[in-house]
Amino acid sequence: MASHEAAALAGDVAVMSELEQTCDITCPHCWETIPIWLDLSVGSQSYYEDCSVCCRSIVISYESEGGELLSVTADAAD
Ligand SMILES: [Zn+2]
Repeated sequence: MASHEAAALAGDVAVMSELEQTCDITCPHCWETIPIWLDLSVGSQSYYEDCSVCCRSIVISYESEGGELLSVTADAAD
């Protein structure tokens, strides 16, 4: 967590040694843009995340290949 914050402060969040990357998604409930962390070492997955603004559940799905993000979608979970 601390290293993520340090990277964000430095303005260099695109390349992380652990194949993690930030991505901004739009909440399907309140339409706010919220940043999420993606682990690109797993290829593709979907998971639930609570919106940091309205606290409602979002299903985040993403695909990656070779550590490169191909697509990410955010859908309402309810
Ligand atoms: Zn929201």
